[in-house]
Amino acid sequence: MKGDIAVDTEAMGLNNKRDRLCVVQLSDGNGDAHLVQLSHDNYKAPNLIKVLSDPARVKIFHFARFDLSIMRCYLGISLTNVYCTRTASRLVRTYTDRHGYKDICRELLGVEISKQQQSSDWGAKTLSPEQVEYAASDVLHLHKLREKLNEMLSREGRTELAQACFNFLPFRAELDLAGWENEDIFAHS
Ligand code: MN
Repeated sequence: MKGDIAVDTEAMGLNNKRDRLCVVQLSDGNGDAHLVQLSHDNYKAPNLIKVLSDPARVKIFHFARFDLSIMRCYLGISLTNVYCTRTASRLVRTYTDRHGYKDICRELLGVEISKQQQSSDWGAKTLSPEQVEYAASDVLHLHKLREKLNEMLSREGRTELAQACFNFLPFRAELDLAGWENEDIFAHS
């Protein structure tokens, strides 16, 4: 049986045009994480692409907008059937403006995540044990976070709204890549 997978990426920075994709992390939600390291001259990763492109699996992200754009740029794939814990959090945790992965892991799961390695050199040939641990921790809690956020969305009557937003995310990523990254196309001006 094909399960839903938690997905995250690490890159040389946050600018897709400048900063390359370095690592893709996956977890099936059972406590294991798998890291795929990509070198600057080889983005051929047929097995990874096959798993990510499977429309039957939900791909769970935190801030999917970024990961979807960078995977589109470097792996050449457009994902569908996604869930974003950051989007869910923004729709339901309206009592706070803290929607970082670290924040929601602490509040919803009582788990402390260290973000120390976030801005490290992900293009390094060999990742340090600290980087590997950090990269794994970014996908290990996504299934449980989704569960908690879904309970809250349901309680507040926002499940459908959230799903509609998740369905739009691949197109939001496409708008970013097509030049609308800093514009709210729904705004009046
Ligand atoms: Mn990450």
